[in-house]
Amino acid sequence: DVRVRFAPSPTGYLHLGGLRTALYNFLFAKANNGKFILRIEDTDQSRLVPQASERLEEMLVWAKIPPDESPEVGGPVGPYMQSQRLPLYQEYVKKLLENGTAYKCYCSSRRLNWLRNDAIRRNEVPRYDNRCRHLSQNQIKEQELKGTESCIRFKLGAVKEPIEDLIYGSLANTVAEQEGDPVIMKADGFPTYHFANVVDDHLMGITHVLRGVEWQVSTPKHLQLYRAFGWNPPVIGHLPLILNRDGSKLSKRQGDVHIEHYRAQGYAAEAILNFVTDIGGGFEGRDSRHLLSVEELIEKFDVSRITKNSCRLDMEKLYHYNQLSLHKCLEDPSELKVLLAQLRDLLRKTYSERLWSSTAQERVLSTDYLTQVLEWSKVRITCLQDLLHPDFSYVWVVPDQLPVSGLPAMPCSHVTVLRRVEDLIASSTDSFTKENIARLVKNVGKEYKLKTPAIMKLMRMSVSGLTEGPPVGEMLAVLGKEAALERIRHAVW
Ligand code: GLU
Repeated sequence: DVRVRFAPSPTGYLHLGGLRTALYNFLFAKANNGKFILRIEDTDQSRLVPQASERLEEMLVWAKIPPDESPEVGGPVGPYMQSQRLPLYQEYVKKLLENGTAYKCYCSSRRLNWLRNDAIRRNEVPRYDNRCRHLSQNQIKEQELKGTESCIRFKLGAVKEPIEDLIYGSLANTVAEQEGDPVIMKADGFPTYHFANVVDDHLMGITHVLRGVEWQVSTPKHLQLYRAFGWNPPVIGHLPLILNRDGSKLSKRQGDVHIEHYRAQGYAAEAILNFVTDIGGGFEGRDSRHLLSVEELIEKFDVSRITKNSCRLDMEKLYHYNQLSLHKCLEDPSELKVLLAQLRDLLRKTYSERLWSSTAQERVLSTDYLTQVLEWSKVRITCLQDLLHPDFSYVWVVPDQLPVSGLPAMPCSHVTVLRRVEDLIASSTDSFTKENIARLVKNVGKEYKLKTPAIMKLMRMSVSGLTEGPPVGEMLAVLGKEAALERIRHAVW
């Protein structure tokens, strides 16, 4: 049975690269009727960020790619946090000491520093010189008697067979010659990444490893560890590098690549999933004009279609997908309800009650009004938050200030014209559509010998405070007769 894992270190929050890894593992598991496991790799205690592991898991749930087994969910092969598995690592490191593939290293940090500095001085890559690999029994006994602090290192061999990568194909195996024996267990009893990763993948029954290509350099070491234990390694594949659109590195430290940041900005999980799967291949018949649900992504997922080329993220695509997701929500009554609740929340937070009379508030926050605004604005916005932009404020409240300059030149007074428009709107029994509004404006134009665009501009400015914006007829129709009159009166009285 297929078992895959996402194994982040809780050194920060979930970012786009991490989400991509988690998602592809999830899709691979689900496409093969397998299990998706979340394992927290927190063996580097100096780099932990408080709450990071809880928040990582919460974001997977939010993104609708929840793990089947995890620190929160539990499962048959837990614990799922490496810091809670220390006795297991002790047990397994003993096996390597016993079969002679690992050894204790007594080198002081002073000596290791000296080796490092010496190499740097000679312009060489620093490497451990494997001194303790060759200690005699007497030398070992002497160190033990002295109680010298020790770590455990793995004896790296010079393996030459190529490595089979599920995505990159056959790769040359270039380990060992350039590297010293790696530490697998630190003096404080914590394992290092390589060791814990291999032991856990084995004990957790992981069948396939899919991870970022930055971990490809570790694979030769991992394969040697599997061999030292006499275990079969999982199938290993690496996902291509993700870059910014300009080709620069996608930094984990940039706050704006955190998934929580996108969520706060109003981006839907589905849009983000489509965004990260849009690049790098992996899907049959993918077409970015359509938003795919998680189920559809599972269905179309094909690991053999993932590309090796590094891929570039184009933020425009995220906006595009979020707009599609907004449209999709508008068509689904239960999604729409959620959307409306979110919008109400945002509006209440943004426009203090001071600006709103209670009747205006009731009308603005009503389901009918909000739905109508959404239907009208859906081609103009990419997320709900866009509706809080000052350009949309007239939709929610009477504009604070109207522009004093830029009004169209007219032979008669602006106020006269607006009052006439107000009168005609108020007395009209026609439905308040953009067509009827246009007809009304035309009549006023005839009456005062004015061009329609000039009246339209005057109306736009007095109703919205904007010098440019959507067609006036649409603006007024969306506002509705009552609010339209309110805005005009506010401008002229
Ligand atoms: N802990 C590693 C990380 O932070 C895991 C890499 C792997 O999947 O082997 O990504």
